[in-house]
Amino acid sequence: GEASPIQIAEAIGNFQFNGRLMRGCAYGNGHINDTYLLTFQISGMGNIKVILQKMNKDVFEKPVELMENVMGVTAYLREQIIKNGGDPERETLNVIPAYDGKPYYKDSYGEYWRSYKFITDATSYDVVEKPEHFYQSAVAFGNFQCMLADYPADTLNETIVGFHDTRARFAVFKKAVEEDVLGRAASVKDEIQFVLDREEVANYFSELQDKGELPLRVTHNDTKLNNIMIDNKTGKGICVIDLDTVMPGLAMNDFGDSIRFGASTAAEDERDLSKVSCDMDLYELYTKGFIEGCAGRLTGKEIELLPMGAKVMTFECGMRFLTDYLQGDRYFKIHREDHNRDRCRTQFKLVADMEKKWDTMESIVRKYAR
Ligand code: ADP
Ligand code: MG
Ligand code: MG
Repeated sequence: GEASPIQIAEAIGNFQFNGRLMRGCAYGNGHINDTYLLTFQISGMGNIKVILQKMNKDVFEKPVELMENVMGVTAYLREQIIKNGGDPERETLNVIPAYDGKPYYKDSYGEYWRSYKFITDATSYDVVEKPEHFYQSAVAFGNFQCMLADYPADTLNETIVGFHDTRARFAVFKKAVEEDVLGRAASVKDEIQFVLDREEVANYFSELQDKGELPLRVTHNDTKLNNIMIDNKTGKGICVIDLDTVMPGLAMNDFGDSIRFGASTAAEDERDLSKVSCDMDLYELYTKGFIEGCAGRLTGKEIELLPMGAKVMTFECGMRFLTDYLQGDRYFKIHREDHNRDRCRTQFKLVADMEKKWDTMESIVRKYAR
């Protein structure tokens, strides 16, 4: 639940903040953590803003490992940004430590808090107000891959085990079909068949990984538009934020999840499937931005597999909705009857649409590959 004023005050008192607290309020539209904006006055220096977050302990079971990842990645990004002549205060998150030097504070209720310097003169947009935003997020997430290309990804903690292990998720799906605990399987026969017909999609990346053909990368795993700060003056995507799900993974999956969500013409739970398709203009825009941002640091194989990333991520997501439907809506919150069934249908419609547009998707990637 929400923190009480006393709990918030305890947290504030335990971070290395300077100055006098002038103002504190709930901030932003994040759906996971509780975010606060604090304003401190430092005599002779004016006001300084910081972000304070109570981490969601239901979602993140390993907050210490999570913050270890954040520290490793942000320290590395800072070096890269300085090397490139950028501004490390605005182009990466900067953790403000607690008084004991740790990058988090565990309060007397057992909740974990952390703090970041506030990124000034920039905005995180919740909805794509113009295609340019989507393009800027692509450049920023591509640039994130570029700057972290030499980071030893295998040293990161896998904070959510098997997050994009699509092969393992396929096995869980098959078990859910067999068990059919609610007797719902008969009502989603076509959807189940759609998944079963595509086992090779579920196995595609795992098999290449087994053969050592895909490099392990630092992946973000929550590549939404509102996790990018866009500069108010230049309109450029300057910083990737929300590093909670940074983990070892595959570059194509970060790309793919952005396409799954951002290039779809309809909401994730649209019931009128005739409205659901993968928009090739948005796909092209994102592909262009992402490849530009990566600046040649992905392998030729990874670039070639970007369309497959879009298909695998969309397939995986639909399969997870369907699995959850069969298991009784235990993971994804539902807001109406059969919500997870409706959700899986939009994802499978997108997969089918991508299959139809496959040649176009591949040729768009080739157009921007270098
Ligand atoms: P959640 O996991 O809940 O989405 P985020 O870390 O994305 O949490 O933070 C929620 C919102 O707070 C962001 O969308 C952004 O608007 C704002 N925010 C987070 N960190 C910063 C920061 N360092 N500077 C400015 N705004 C921030
Ligand atoms: Mg966020
Ligand atoms: Mg988040």
